[in-house]
Amino acid sequence: MKLHEHQAKEVFARYGIPVPDGKVAFSLKEAKQVAEELGEFPLVVKAQVHCGGRGKAGGVKIVKDMDELEKAVEGMLGKVLKTFQCPDGKPVNRVWIEKATAIDKEFYLSITLDRARSKPVLMASAAGGMEIEEIAKENPEAIIIEEIDPELGLMPYQARKLAFKLGLPVKDFSKMALALYKIYTDLDASLVEINPLVLDKEGRVIALDAKLEVDDNALFRHKDIEEMEDETQISPLEVEAKKYGLNYIKLSGNIGCMVNGAGLAMATMDIIKLAGGEPANFLDVGGGANVEQIANAFRILMADEDVKAVFINIFGGILRCDRLAQGLVEAGKMVELSVPIVVRMEGTNVEEGKKILAESGMNFVNAEDMWDGARKAVDLAQKGS
Ligand code: GDP
Ligand code: MN
Repeated sequence: MKLHEHQAKEVFARYGIPVPDGKVAFSLKEAKQVAEELGEFPLVVKAQVHCGGRGKAGGVKIVKDMDELEKAVEGMLGKVLKTFQCPDGKPVNRVWIEKATAIDKEFYLSITLDRARSKPVLMASAAGGMEIEEIAKENPEAIIIEEIDPELGLMPYQARKLAFKLGLPVKDFSKMALALYKIYTDLDASLVEINPLVLDKEGRVIALDAKLEVDDNALFRHKDIEEMEDETQISPLEVEAKKYGLNYIKLSGNIGCMVNGAGLAMATMDIIKLAGGEPANFLDVGGGANVEQIANAFRILMADEDVKAVFINIFGGILRCDRLAQGLVEAGKMVELSVPIVVRMEGTNVEEGKKILAESGMNFVNAEDMWDGARKAVDLAQKGS
């Protein structure tokens, strides 16, 4: 789960990481009140959306009086902000307003899990402000990576070493890096990022931007974080899927995929590509889905306008094939089957399952195996679009 910048900054402040004085506002009226409270210009108005690259897209504005503030806020609230990271845009329903910082130099700092090393890593760069992907591509040696031993945690000497390399005040930077690691572990974060971390004209180290992503699987023990979720930032179908305990990911092709289990999801997408197609999404119903969940999964798949054919690829273990088939038939009564549905199932009670589908009178296309199913789905999707 992603947090907004203003939420991440509130967390940062609690852990003693210096952030500019600021407050969130949901309306122009609130924005003006915040400006009054902060009591001085220049201020920075920042659109709160779940995507980076706001600066270049007009989502970050420095304002020097109330007039400019009004214009900036009106230009953001209620609008959709498109950035290179989010070409379709995200709705802006709140802005963060903070005291402007006189920047001397911008840096990059983050902690994330490096799967190849099986360890968290601290990544830092003096080429801040830029996106890390850009630095990694054009100037990879400008990124300093410090492996963190999960048993020991981030050691103070590692933070000090980094401070020297970056040319930042050692004590202040170390405190910040250690606090950042504490947030990473305390909140079960998958990413904490400060870009830019700045050195201001008075030599202070400040987090000017804040990104915090918490592992969804750990949300059950962070109810306060879970409550911060802004559902306007996620696609409505993903919100819907979450409600029923389904895992739904939107992709860019035209074949809707329903599978059970993450491994089968990967294999299904690979085989669709091998057959010359592109998945429109994948919907993982998990191991023990019931009839109602199957029906809802199906409804969500059909609601995606990009879907021209559906490939259902299920291995019936705990989720028996007859139960899957019943779910599909139930769903077929609820939603209009506007596109062809290719079904490949294997495993427990597969014969009963096939019989239920065949006798349903609905238009399911039977697949002999995975490869047969993929080819049929690709073929039907092409005919449909
Ligand atoms: P992002 O583009 O979505 O990552 O938004 P950021 O919060 O990182 O802001 C983008 C850029 O705006 C920063 O890299 C800074 O150069 C600039 N910026 C943001 N806040 C301030 C500020 O208080 N003072 C100055 N001078 N520049 C700022
Ligand atoms: Mn940034």
